Amino acid sequence: MEQSPETTVDSKKLCTTCGSSVVYAGTFVEFLCPNCNQDLIRRCEKCKNLSNNYKCSKCGFMGP
Ligand SMILES: [Zn+2]
Ligand SMILES: [Zn+2]
Repeated sequence: MEQSPETTVDSKKLCTTCGSSVVYAGTFVEFLCPNCNQDLIRRCEKCKNLSNNYKCSKCGFMGP
């Protein structure tokens, strides 16, 4: 079995809240900051279930 040089898995996608890679964490959500619409917020399933707060790195907005 040959490995494709084009790997579509982006391991750089990190959960905004806990910093772990969301690619291997199952389902995750991705949305723009509701306050400034400039930062992409990512939340892994774990943080979603725990309702952990996220913080926008652009404007500092914090939300559940
Ligand atoms: Zn997380
Ligand atoms: Zn923001």
